[in-house]
Amino acid sequence: MARSYPEWQQLATELEIEGRAFIAGEYSAAQDGRSFACINPANGQTLAQIAWCGQREVDTAVQAARQAFESGEWSALAPLARGRILKRFAALIRECSDELSLLETLDVGKPIADTQSVDVAGAAYCVEWFAEAIDKIGGEVAPVDPKLVGLVTREAIGVVAAVVPWNFPILMASWKFGPALAAGNAVIVKPSEKSPLTAIRLAALAKEAGIPDGIFQVLPGAGDTGKMLALHMDVDCIAFTGSTAVGKLIAADAAASNLKRTWLELGGKSPNIILPDCPDIKKAARTAAAAIFYNMGEMCTAGSRVLVHRDIKDSFLAAFKEAAQGWQPGDPLNPDTAMGAIVDRIQYDKVLSYVDKGLNEGATLICGGKATHLEQGLFIEPTAFDCARADLTICREEIFGPVLSVITFDTVEEAIRIANDSEYGLAAAVWTSDLSTAHKVSRALRAGTVWVNCYDEGGDMNFPFGGFKQSGNGRDKSLHAMEKYSELKSTLIKLG
Ligand code: NDP
Repeated sequence: MARSYPEWQQLATELEIEGRAFIAGEYSAAQDGRSFACINPANGQTLAQIAWCGQREVDTAVQAARQAFESGEWSALAPLARGRILKRFAALIRECSDELSLLETLDVGKPIADTQSVDVAGAAYCVEWFAEAIDKIGGEVAPVDPKLVGLVTREAIGVVAAVVPWNFPILMASWKFGPALAAGNAVIVKPSEKSPLTAIRLAALAKEAGIPDGIFQVLPGAGDTGKMLALHMDVDCIAFTGSTAVGKLIAADAAASNLKRTWLELGGKSPNIILPDCPDIKKAARTAAAAIFYNMGEMCTAGSRVLVHRDIKDSFLAAFKEAAQGWQPGDPLNPDTAMGAIVDRIQYDKVLSYVDKGLNEGATLICGGKATHLEQGLFIEPTAFDCARADLTICREEIFGPVLSVITFDTVEEAIRIANDSEYGLAAAVWTSDLSTAHKVSRALRAGTVWVNCYDEGGDMNFPFGGFKQSGNGRDKSLHAMEKYSELKSTLIKLG
């Protein structure tokens, strides 16, 4: 049932928030009493104190995960039984949709309409999809010497740590723990300190669904917990979504410790190329606005560079300016709000510093550019710059906020060269009426996902998601995601 703005405001006052870690099947505070404040970015109010897990909690959780994994009560469960439990988990996420959506919206400033329809609904769908996939993937019988039987099978890796981000907290967590649990692993979720609430709440739902103690644990922390997991000698795999800088640290820590499997989904500076034969310029402009302003631009796939052909630039920009008006920030608890608050003061300052850099480096403001303070919250107008050069800082670095750079080109070859001239390679889009051009440009773009005449499509779980170059390795979503949480084993049986 769709709730009204006053109803959400009322529910927010009644919400009970759990801030403790979830270790070995129980909620517990950090043993040394350390905690950090969880703040609502839309009004600056403290929502809860959150347990700050240290080495003691990390060691206890890893030990519990190891014991639970080796007991076989999850990894050796019949696929059908594991699938049923995960489906129950997905159903509980759906049943608690109002509560989880509210927690997410208060925690990170996302519009409530989005947390319900995208984040929470998407997390339930993800868990359900991987639950259903468990008994659909088999091994291989290799064509070997006739005196042998050669089996190729997959086994769970063991203890998986998932260090998950704040831009889609419950959804990105589910993209890691969904396939990892389905593959039979024990998972430790380390939520970002900016967004711990939904992961903490999920732990109780996992237990209620029947996931054994130690198989799903949550360790919040704010400065060193992730590193402790990355360095831990008894963590077998670490999956991370976040900045390229931290991704590199995690890869180095994995190498310096036990060479744990490392899967990284990192930054982006995705190009959205509008060719002169774009089938519908107004639609392309509306889509370009959504591609950068949806989720306050806090998107690894944000279409943060629009590359527009000179011949259609004026009509594109006119339509874009109009579309941007629909993304003015508002209270995230209002179901009519399209753009909410920036996640915290650090990110807010970072985004505004890029607006200053754009102005200082000579870019021309197309729209926005200012902070708007609704009740002391952290809100920034939908902002776009016309950039005379593609090498400006705002055209190269990931801003992770509602700030677009528009770059003009004259030939398709020039557009492809500018698009690929980036350390990132997460996503890209091209708008054209010509099928051959669509295929040729898609092939030429060095990106993990390419959209043609659309952006951010593909909510289905069967598309792999991840990046080329410094946007990371491995893929979330799809059956390929299950592969990365398992090891291949070759068994050779000599016939007598
Ligand atoms: P980061 O991506 O930089 O990562 C912070 C998370 O990583 C926290 O959970 C932190 O936990 C953990 N962490 C930090 N250092 C290490 C380490 N050495 N080993 C293991 N884990 C570690 O997020 P920020 O919030 O700092 O954001 C910075 C920028 O990252 C953003 O402005 C944005 O550009 C980008 N970003 C990209 C995302 C994406 O989807 N690709 C998502 C979020 C951010 P702890 O400190 O407790 O160890």
